[in-house]
Amino acid sequence: MQEKGTISIHTENIFPIIKKFLYSDHEIFLRELVSNAVDASQKIKRLSSLGQYKGELGNLQVEVSFDEKKKTLTVSDRGLGMTADEIKKYINQIAFSGATEFVEKFKDAKDANELIGKFGLGFYSAFMVADKVEIQTLSYQEGAEPARWICDGSTEFEITTGNRKDRGTEIILHINKDSKEFLNKNKLQEILDKYCRFLPISIKFGTKTESEPDGEDAEGKPKYKSVEVDNIINNTNPIWAKAPADLKDEDYLAFYKELYPFSEDPLFWIHLNVDYPFNLTGVLYFPKIKNDFELKPNKIKLFSRQVFITDEVKDIVPEFLMLLHGVIDSPDIPLNVSRSFLQADSNVKKINTYITKKVADKLAELFKKDRKVFEEKWQDIGLFVKYGMISEEKFYDKAKDFALLSNTKNEYFTLDQYKEKIKPLQTDKDSTLVYLYTTDAAKQDTYIQSANNKVYDVLVMNSPIDNHFISQLEQKLEKTALKRVDSDVIDKLIQKNDTPKHALTEEQSTKVKAVFEKAINKPNMNVEIESLNPDELPVHVTMDEFMRRTKDMSQMGGGMSFYGMMPENYKVAVNGNHPLINRILQAENEEEQGQLAKQAFDLALLSQGMLTGSDLTEFVKRSVQLI
Ligand code: ADP
Repeated sequence: MQEKGTISIHTENIFPIIKKFLYSDHEIFLRELVSNAVDASQKIKRLSSLGQYKGELGNLQVEVSFDEKKKTLTVSDRGLGMTADEIKKYINQIAFSGATEFVEKFKDAKDANELIGKFGLGFYSAFMVADKVEIQTLSYQEGAEPARWICDGSTEFEITTGNRKDRGTEIILHINKDSKEFLNKNKLQEILDKYCRFLPISIKFGTKTESEPDGEDAEGKPKYKSVEVDNIINNTNPIWAKAPADLKDEDYLAFYKELYPFSEDPLFWIHLNVDYPFNLTGVLYFPKIKNDFELKPNKIKLFSRQVFITDEVKDIVPEFLMLLHGVIDSPDIPLNVSRSFLQADSNVKKINTYITKKVADKLAELFKKDRKVFEEKWQDIGLFVKYGMISEEKFYDKAKDFALLSNTKNEYFTLDQYKEKIKPLQTDKDSTLVYLYTTDAAKQDTYIQSANNKVYDVLVMNSPIDNHFISQLEQKLEKTALKRVDSDVIDKLIQKNDTPKHALTEEQSTKVKAVFEKAINKPNMNVEIESLNPDELPVHVTMDEFMRRTKDMSQMGGGMSFYGMMPENYKVAVNGNHPLINRILQAENEEEQGQLAKQAFDLALLSQGMLTGSDLTEFVKRSVQLI
């Protein structure tokens, strides 16, 4: 048998196009060839189980090998093989919807995945790295003749009788001179590890040495010998392909270690398993995040029928879950991973919604099952939950029942519980519920104590996302305001009808104000006389909630915005009821008045860690003189 022909595509120049435009991602040719081999092996298995193939299945292992001297790379399988007619049908008639469409598309294609996925060019990706590709194959069908196909990258091909004696296919690539890296063992191993690590049929790549028991020596001790065994590069049955009911915690943890050898154990995981209206399996892990450096997205790996596709899962996984680890496998996600295409894909949207719902359900379940454990993990989980509540309405609606607030006493409350807890005392005169919070309990201790003196509760809001979470809560909760505990004096933070007046006359107030303004002598420090408990400090320095938030937000955005350049304005709240104020009024001269005021002001700054540099040195000197 000998036949020559022309590959039926409508453009003459298909191979140059493939070579040129699939340039960025050459290595994926190996993924394509090995997946084809795996498919062929699975097909013969199925035919056998259906009784349509009566012969021996034998060892279905796929083998990848290379020969540096001959410059060949071979992928061989014991799958169903092809007849010459099938080669003509499947290989020669490239499954294009049309050459025009192809030429249209390749202009914008950014990577090989995009083209290969869309046009079924898997096999032809071999021409990215090979001058010549040869197929030796024997079909499983009774009486089939071995066939050989060879093509040098032009549109001319040749089919002859082949030399294969047993069922299956061998794809032999004559690697071109620009692609020698694909004749390197380490390089090939790396590519196989990346794409083929979880393929469902064993993949052999070379051999490795193992030691094997070899009887006993003269003294009766066991002997060992080195033997060459097949180097199988993949785990054919990863846990996401198994039924959740068949798996134990150890299995999930072991798999996590397999994927991320250097990571700490995850907090918990979610096994995804749907078959309608789309197919999706996977395991998502909530990692333990020790520090900000570990906040790396793109840890989730995307597979399609156990073939690795990418670790860029944007759009498939909701943004707030991008920090999760694990795997997702779906044959319904287009292999083409270009952004715009994915966003438009309706399956991708459904998958995204499904994952959001599953994660919310799992968290709700953990919360219900063991609240104590949930609270212990909240530090780590909270970040995801808050991010989700801010970015997705649907997630907020579910999470509002298990999201937790924690206070300075390390107690945890749900949103509803907290509201009930503080309602009696922390409702102001306009019926607004005021949540007090601290971003740094150590630094803001003076203010926390002022709040505690009033039996007010103070929440801890110190995670990087809390700024946004606070705004979100204010939007969602009715008649509720969140105020940092040092944003005003306590009676002003939660204003009641019976707010007391301070003991000073108007004249005295004006006097005291003038003394402090002169002593402080800074334009951004606005002195006000307030009525506080005589036990409170004589001076508090506060920054308005709104102003501080605007500044914080602009800082997070980076760069020099208008707000970022705003001077930091503070209020210097002088406690009109404090005995020191009387002392100031009765002081002998202006100098003594000024010293007392300055000292009281510096103490306020000191209590907030705001006294630094030369101001601090001066304060220490002055204090030494005073004692
Ligand atoms: P796809 O795999 O997307 O269909 P390919 O270009 O990779 O596109 O392969 C085209 C067809 O060639 C396959 O669908 C299959 O029928 C056949 N084929 C490729 N490789 C093998 C193989 N190793 N054994 C049997 N058939 C194969």
